[in-house]
Amino acid sequence: MQATVLNRPRTPLEWTDLPDRQPGQGQIRVKVVACGVCRTDLHVVDGELPDPRAPIIPGHEIVGRIDAIGADVEGLSMGERVGVPWLGHTCGVCPYCRMQRENLCDHPVFTGYTRDGGFATATIADARFAFPLGEVGSDVSLAPLLCAGLIGWRSLAIAGDGKNLGLYGFGAAAHIIAQVARWQGRSVFAFTRPGDAATQAFARTLGAAWAGDSDETPPEQLDAAIIFATVGELVPRALKAIRKGGRVVCAGIHMSDIPSFPYALLWEERQLVSVANLTRQDGIDFLRQAPKMGIITHTTTYPLRNANVALADLRAGRFDGAAVLVP
Ligand SMILES: [Zn+2]
Ligand SMILES: [Zn+2]
Repeated sequence: MQATVLNRPRTPLEWTDLPDRQPGQGQIRVKVVACGVCRTDLHVVDGELPDPRAPIIPGHEIVGRIDAIGADVEGLSMGERVGVPWLGHTCGVCPYCRMQRENLCDHPVFTGYTRDGGFATATIADARFAFPLGEVGSDVSLAPLLCAGLIGWRSLAIAGDGKNLGLYGFGAAAHIIAQVARWQGRSVFAFTRPGDAATQAFARTLGAAWAGDSDETPPEQLDAAIIFATVGELVPRALKAIRKGGRVVCAGIHMSDIPSFPYALLWEERQLVSVANLTRQDGIDFLRQAPKMGIITHTTTYPLRNANVALADLRAGRFDGAAVLVP
């Protein structure tokens, strides 16, 4: 197999030949056909997450086909198309796993962070954490659903069912969740980096009722807001934009420090919460309904060998929607 490997944080990924791996008990080997590039991959490469592991193969929006099956795997077959997400494994016995909150597991394994991921021609996955994808939809179009879509979906559920939804940071996740929210009959208010007219226009093409700069006041009060951008300054801005009793959801794994703000922005039962990871149930719920929602993912594809270019383009905001690597 070949992979683009992060040998040390803050260095470019290196194209590497590796011996083929065999799936262990409860595992499958997946021939990767597409792997999305997520903001979290940048955090891994930049060494911004705690306890980084290196060398590591990033990538956790994996679409592939099973080409080897380990012992004691049930319900999956050779050649089947599956998705491998960020949540790679949970312990099953910690208090969080026992209370159906496996996204908060004390001993998790994360694909592309603490276990090798999908910036490769093949990967090994825990069979119980892989999602059968069926045959509807192209490999490339499905890849961004595996994290941008799933984490966005969980964030949307936690935001509540208010009609006016603000999305701060209009990248891969927001461009999917805007479509889901429209399908649910909500009004989407899209906030981008100040002056990013192109992304604001992109948001309008996806049905946003309004799109503007992140420091603007939207034309209507918001019921809830999801912050996908990694910018702490957005937290007080979003609190200011929501109504009494509204909720601000921070969807990212990493964010710059939140500046101090007057208590009045939180007063009147406004809520500020974060979303961490996903549960398998989130994935099952979202992927079952996704075909009905008519989601069109906007993707820019790169050859797997050019993973560094894709990461640089994501960092610089050079494309709308999501980047996908293709071996
Ligand atoms: Zn991700
Ligand atoms: Zn656990």
